[in-house]
Amino acid sequence: MSTDPSDEARFERMLRARRAELDDDSAAVDARLEALGAMRDANTDDEHDPDGAPVSAEWSRLTGIRLEADRERAATDAALARIAAGTFGTCESCGRPIATARLEARPTATLCIECAALIRRP
Ligand SMILES: [Zn+2]
Repeated sequence: MSTDPSDEARFERMLRARRAELDDDSAAVDARLEALGAMRDANTDDEHDPDGAPVSAEWSRLTGIRLEADRERAATDAALARIAAGTFGTCESCGRPIATARLEARPTATLCIECAALIRRP
């Protein structure tokens, strides 16, 4: 049992829009990282320079955002692949349909709410 075809088309649009956003975000972060990298290269005494720490902190923050965007892009691509395969909206654990409300909140969800609750760590 899969999701309604009209819902599926809607989720596909949502996922594609989200993917375009992620590409834009990653491009912006990459440009910022490149600029920071140039600053870091110009400043070889990073450890002892008073401006060194903020650059490092910003670098960590941006690479964190970049990793998160990559993870979400992978999840979005996987969801689009499930739409193409006709398995979108089916729980990967129990095989039952994932509630439409849950997919609206998280179109990349692979588990129904019951299965997600079972594996969730406190
Ligand atoms: Zn399930």
